[in-house]
Amino acid sequence: MYEALGVVPVINGFGTATRVSGSLMPEPVIAAMREASGSYVLIDELLASAGRRIAQLTRNDAAYICSSATAGLVLATAACISGDDPAVMAAFPHPGTVAGVPTKVVIHRCERFSYDFSVRSTGISFVEIGPTREESLRGVRTSPDELARVLDGSVAAVLMVPNGPHTYGALPIGEVVTIAHAHGVPVIVDAASQIPAVENLWHFSGHGGPAPWAHALHAAGVTKSAPESVAGLGVDLAIFSGGKGLCGPAPTGLLLGRPDLIDSITRQGSPNPLIGRPMKVGKEEICGIVAAVEWYLATDFTALARRYEADVRTVIDGVDGIRGVVATRVWPSESGQPMARALVTFGPEAPLTRDRMQVRLMGNRPRIAVWNEGDDGFHVNPQTLRPGEAAVIADVLRRILRSA
Ligand SMILES: *Cc1c(COP(=O)(O)O)cnc(C)c1O
Repeated sequence: MYEALGVVPVINGFGTATRVSGSLMPEPVIAAMREASGSYVLIDELLASAGRRIAQLTRNDAAYICSSATAGLVLATAACISGDDPAVMAAFPHPGTVAGVPTKVVIHRCERFSYDFSVRSTGISFVEIGPTREESLRGVRTSPDELARVLDGSVAAVLMVPNGPHTYGALPIGEVVTIAHAHGVPVIVDAASQIPAVENLWHFSGHGGPAPWAHALHAAGVTKSAPESVAGLGVDLAIFSGGKGLCGPAPTGLLLGRPDLIDSITRQGSPNPLIGRPMKVGKEEICGIVAAVEWYLATDFTALARRYEADVRTVIDGVDGIRGVVATRVWPSESGQPMARALVTFGPEAPLTRDRMQVRLMGNRPRIAVWNEGDDGFHVNPQTLRPGEAAVIADVLRRILRSA
């Protein structure tokens, strides 16, 4: 099909980004989707049962399946604004036309990001607190008072986007929950790319539980110790991409958390003709994401942690000894996930520049996609590599550098 369309596939060293098509679905997910495609069902019934199954698997009280994490941002915000009020549900994207409705969302300045457009599309405006990204990277932190001061009756929710070192200036999620709940304000966490760690499924909005990823990192020799378990942080709604770490269908997202908010989301979601109607998932995606969560929870995480480390090592070794090129193992991932990547930088002595190398990688067969870092480097993320692809990347890099 790709060949027929004249599209050349890539080896994805970039990561689980939508632009590079997310992740690859394992066979059980494809089988579930194929099976689902064979009969008609009532979508309300399927969504409700699949939601219950996902909630049970992830140790949450309730769950809803939508078309992406960004759809989850829209729906979570909408539910925090409207609660169960049908007049407000009907008023989106102008909820402020209903008297007394909260239309502000608090966000840390360092956590503003491109997808916050989805939150604003409900008609809210942001109230920003804390340091900028740059200040955050320099170690500036948010004071708890700053959050408490802005939490009045006009605030519908606090949005948290834990997403790497530039967000470390935000208050810790547990502290935000304590302060926000004391003011009667719910907390949303955009955890779209926070898999791994698998335990995040129950850490933010769930009841807590075991810590398989922390244990896997320990067993693989990556960390010195691992906690016995993780606690639930009391977050009201946590959002995950279905098509990133979970390897479900790209057009899926999970909303996990408070049953009354999930109920509000269900009423505003497809097939009902309200704000969530364009964010629909079909029976194939619904069954696919249930199968993906089941499949992912059964992963041999220690083997996965070892594979990530080995792939990073393979890429680094590939460019070893080439003048002007330095490859190192860096931690955490671009989204702050507890996993390593390979960072390759091209100094003035290097046989070619980073930009020239990137053109060569895209022109290569197989094509190779990598994540740019600054002006002179790129990352290779092992999360989206298939077996043997790290070695292919290493070979291609070496060959291009030697011949440049
Ligand atoms: C990837 C990502 C998203 C978007 O996820 P989709 O499922 O593709 O909509 C949203 N927020 C964050 C923090 C992300 O990393």
